[in-house]
Amino acid sequence: MTTTDPQGVDRGANRADASSPPLKAGIVGSGIAGASCAGHLAAAGWDVDVFEKARGVGGRLSTKRLEQGWASLGSPFISAQRDPFRSQLRQWVRQGWLEAVRGDVLQGRATISWVQAQLQNHYRLNIEPSKLVHELLGEAKLHTNTPVAALKARTIILEDGREMGNFDCVICSVPTPQALPLLDALPLLRDGLGEIRYRPIWSFLMRWEGGPSANVIKFDDHLLKLAVRQSSDNPGLWVVHSSHEFAETYLEASVEEASTRAASALMGLLGLPWPVEVEVSHLWRYARPESTTAGGFWLSDRESRVALIGDGIAGEGVERAWESGVRLAQALIQAKAELVL
Ligand SMILES: Cc1cc2nc3c(=O)[nH]c(=O)nc-3n(C[C@H](O)[C@H](O)[C@H](O)COP(=O)(O)OP(=O)(O)OC[C@H]3O[C@@H](n4cnc5c(N)ncnc54)[C@H](O)[C@@H]3O)c2cc1C
Repeated sequence: MTTTDPQGVDRGANRADASSPPLKAGIVGSGIAGASCAGHLAAAGWDVDVFEKARGVGGRLSTKRLEQGWASLGSPFISAQRDPFRSQLRQWVRQGWLEAVRGDVLQGRATISWVQAQLQNHYRLNIEPSKLVHELLGEAKLHTNTPVAALKARTIILEDGREMGNFDCVICSVPTPQALPLLDALPLLRDGLGEIRYRPIWSFLMRWEGGPSANVIKFDDHLLKLAVRQSSDNPGLWVVHSSHEFAETYLEASVEEASTRAASALMGLLGLPWPVEVEVSHLWRYARPESTTAGGFWLSDRESRVALIGDGIAGEGVERAWESGVRLAQALIQAKAELVL
């Protein structure tokens, strides 16, 4: 029997009949691209295993746990340009997971002036970003602390030497510079990726008193870009993002050096007379892709049944990453009897 889940996917749609075994997918990475793909396939009756090298899910939407609550050092906002992500965001707003960013956005720097700014169609998460990504995984089986070392036709080779084989489809959702070393046995895909450059961002969890009254500050500056106030339970706590140029300058610097430079730049920008406390620092070496492969939501090698998704393939940002996972899953589900990539 076929049932439909809340995401509009036919459960069991990929099984020829109830007695045939489910199709199997192996997915590398549990960011929003891998998780959305995994959840859709699992909801359609696929047997899905997700291999994640980190301790938890979310990738660039992962969460930093604090004594008091949590902070998000990765993407602070989610925005949608078009459907289907726009409808998905509306659903998350109804569920209370997101809310629109309104008012209290300032742009400028203390030595020039602050002006009220807009962040149209930008949403902030009310729940931990990693929890949202976890929800997307649905019934898929998650294996954390499980780095993948290489991919072969229908096979995932783990860093501990185990070979997980016989997948009907292997899907790799990691940033493309991290995907390249996995693809030595798949030259068609490796060459198809070409030169996709990602740019880095340093993120800092900082605490300060005073400064302009706002929830989001966009800096007119070449070192620091953005400050986002964390929850109202913790009003003095902010996440500050560097510019790409700052992160490229301090790519190999120690955490101490990068934090000291960022804290002193911030004091100048806010006009603060007293020091800023840096509680956590994180370098996102592959924060945002500068370019992507030409068009499309995924890149695949039909013979080997391996496909690549994520923002390096589909275009930068949460929306494109999510959509690449969903679109590939939908294409695989619709292919039914003849599995076409
Ligand atoms: C500081 C910052 C600010 C941002 N701001 C915005 C914004 O305002 N708006 C916006 O739309 N986007 C923003 N982005 C970009 C957005 O976060 C990404 O586009 C999106 O989250 C990418 O999702 P993904 O699933 O493609 O990749 P990722 O989230 O990177 O997921 C990849 C996963 O693969 C795992 N992995 C990697 N290698 C392996 C391996 N060998 N084996 C197993 N697992 C592996 C990683 O641990 C990770 O969990 C920002 C990103 C950063 C870092």
